[in-house]
Amino acid sequence: MRMNTATDSDTICTKQEGWTLEDVGKIIPVRVTPNGSYRNEPVVHVHCQMCTAEFIGPAREAGGFLGGHECLHAWELAQMMGRSDGLVE
Ligand SMILES: [Zn+2]
Repeated sequence: MRMNTATDSDTICTKQEGWTLEDVGKIIPVRVTPNGSYRNEPVVHVHCQMCTAEFIGPAREAGGFLGGHECLHAWELAQMMGRSDGLVE
């Protein structure tokens, strides 16, 4: 028998911006952006494995954060490699 069912504030995050560690693990029921409407998206906390950057926010944006860092660090690496490959002027 369970008397304490989780309240919405424990599982639902209605913030549309400014997410904090306290929101991690909650679900954003609806988030409307110019790119589309995201529904039932979890708030996650991720960090870049190449540098110390961290991100707290919707899963979709976390993916963009990780992908963006991956691209940047790959580019940085290519710049370093490029010198021996003759790819730079
Ligand atoms: Zn990074």
